[in-house]
Amino acid sequence: MEETRKREAAKVNNALSLPKLLGKTLKNLFKKPSTVMVPPREIKPAEGYRGIHRVNYDKCISCSLCAIECPALAIKMVTIPETKKRYPEIDYGKCIFCYRCVEVCPVNAYEVSIEKPAPETKPVIIKETPLEWYKSKKTQQTSSTQQSPQK
Ligand code: SF4
Ligand code: SF4
Repeated sequence: MEETRKREAAKVNNALSLPKLLGKTLKNLFKKPSTVMVPPREIKPAEGYRGIHRVNYDKCISCSLCAIECPALAIKMVTIPETKKRYPEIDYGKCIFCYRCVEVCPVNAYEVSIEKPAPETKPVIIKETPLEWYKSKKTQQTSSTQQSPQK
């Protein structure tokens, strides 16, 4: 008997609180948000920040040392089919920006920058591919041969 009375009282309470809840919801809908919007701005990295690093493939001697030393396994040696030479390909998605590769390269083939790989500044560069470098090099060579005057 007591149980039934309690249940009935709860039902009445719920029915009364529903309009209250609706009122609160509507009020909150038109209220100013309590959070503060941070204005979008580009944060300049500090000097010495380890950013995107690229391989100067013209300098690279294909020793594979950078790939061997990379602790994140972010460097894969890619073979150029025409020359059979292998060049490093960096996956910035895996890279932890420790710069071990930069330190170990015997010919200083790595060019460093403070360019951030974060998506808020520029689109993420996923890979630096030696194949693309080789293709553009070939194209440049072909166009310069075509442009040079014939004897
Ligand atoms: S910076 Fe470090 S993690 Fe990134 S590619 Fe070089 S060695 Fe690998
Ligand atoms: S360590 Fe330097 S020279 Fe050797 S493969 Fe890497 S970029 Fe090329």
